[in-house]
Amino acid sequence: MWARAVPIVLWGDEGTHNFKSWMLFSWMLDVSLWRTNSKASRNLAFACPVNMYRSHEKVNQTLQALLQAVQADLDGLAKGLEVCGEAAQLIDCVHVWTFHVVACKGDLKYLAQSLNLTRFPGCEEVCFRCLASMGRQDPSLVYTDLSEAAAWRTRPAPDPWSERPCLSLLDGFSLRMVSTDWMHTWHLGVARDLVGAAMKICLKSQFWPGPNLARRFSAVQRRLNDFKAQHGLQMHLKRLSKSRLAWEDGTCPEFKSSAADTGVMIRFVASELSDRLPPEPYEGLAACAWLADQLQEAVMRAGLFLSDSEVEQTLMYGRAFLASYMKLAKLANVRRELYFKVRPKFHYLTHLIEDVQTRPSRRSLGWDSCWIDEDWVKVNLRMLRRMSARTCHEHLLYRNLIVVRHELEKRGR
Ligand SMILES: [Zn+2]
Repeated sequence: MWARAVPIVLWGDEGTHNFKSWMLFSWMLDVSLWRTNSKASRNLAFACPVNMYRSHEKVNQTLQALLQAVQADLDGLAKGLEVCGEAAQLIDCVHVWTFHVVACKGDLKYLAQSLNLTRFPGCEEVCFRCLASMGRQDPSLVYTDLSEAAAWRTRPAPDPWSERPCLSLLDGFSLRMVSTDWMHTWHLGVARDLVGAAMKICLKSQFWPGPNLARRFSAVQRRLNDFKAQHGLQMHLKRLSKSRLAWEDGTCPEFKSSAADTGVMIRFVASELSDRLPPEPYEGLAACAWLADQLQEAVMRAGLFLSDSEVEQTLMYGRAFLASYMKLAKLANVRRELYFKVRPKFHYLTHLIEDVQTRPSRRSLGWDSCWIDEDWVKVNLRMLRRMSARTCHEHLLYRNLIVVRHELEKRGR
């Protein structure tokens, strides 16, 4: 039976078009041959303007109603031929094909709304997976505690919702299917904080030569351009600046650019700090940046399932990185300097790294990154631009069907 079971991944995200936000919900075959081509692999299930949302007792009723219809359809697909006989016969005349959801992806905003989460960043309890919290009510549960004996690791957590969400009724659903994705947690989270802190610490000292900050920015820009040329890398960001590092925002520095740019900057910072030690007392930054680079490389290199050595590598680099980053954050805190922010995403990163050894499927972290899904949102927003505002939510579905068919036919020839 399982030889004809097809894994499906669900994904939701918001995009903005003409000052109006849209929720786009899609599904894709996890083993699609064209998963890196968004038009050939992503299938739109619904598109809903966010201003149409209606909520009751902190539950997004509109989204739940839409997801209820999706859940009913997916449960039908999980039963196979009995329910979707005609479609299955088109694929194979004799055997039954069944379709099973294996992962629910999306950013934290979407996950909180689609799963009616009561524990997510912004609340006292920050994690839907465990009882980790800000530590205001119970300091033993603080999410910055990375020790093996941390209370959030050992204390059993109840369901993270007050009202059962429709997605949890899916055949075979488990919270282990749900996780934040690598791109949002790493590239748009912890890695941004690391790059921001590293750049500001080094620019404030004489790490890159120059009598003033402007000259040092020019010097590092030249180094960065050389590094990109040498390794054949590209960045959206044309010029580093104070505003790109949130230098004067009165908060911890953060590298403000795209996820792909952050990936390049991690490599650049690790390379720069491999030759010379960063200024005192943040010498540990060199090891932290190197570990970050190794971790990101190990995650992005892996395929769908991790091998034994990939599990070992991810755990080794990941744990060492988490410990070194936390050490730097504590040092900055003692010195009352605003560096190395430890945000709830850092806690989600801890889960992502440590889960690689307990996930029964050994599903890789990089496999669930949302690079292509983000691209697919842009494709849909471009389609929306050419449609009437009155009928676009319906016509977008039709248009998607035509695009998917066209793309598959192109590749089937
Ligand atoms: Zn947690």
